[in-house]
Amino acid sequence: MIRIRLNWEKNASRLAAKLAEKLAERAILPFLNRSQIVLDDTSADQPLSLQEAYRLAAEALTEAGIKSRSISISGEEIVVDDEKPEAGEEPPVKLYICPHCGFVTPYEEEYWNHLKIHYVGF
Ligand SMILES: [Zn+2]
Repeated sequence: MIRIRLNWEKNASRLAAKLAEKLAERAILPFLNRSQIVLDDTSADQPLSLQEAYRLAAEALTEAGIKSRSISISGEEIVVDDEKPEAGEEPPVKLYICPHCGFVTPYEEEYWNHLKIHYVGF
């Protein structure tokens, strides 16, 4: 699993939403934990490489309109030196975040499907 570290929680949730859109078809799921995103590729056919994750993260940052000074690879982590988001700037997409594990998705149906895994015997 690949980790992406940012400075700001607000930027991290916007980036996670973009990554969820990009990675949905590959069954790779982003999990949000404060300003850190973990990409879970355990159910994917092809594991995500660090280089690929780096390219996707850079692309998603631009698309989400997040300003960053640098993006670098450090061990198994991608470190984004993002700038402070402007006050009052809201995420452009509605985001569903699992209160149990931080799973993030812009899709409501996927969110409800996901929630079920936390309730044994549902
Ligand atoms: Zn969950």
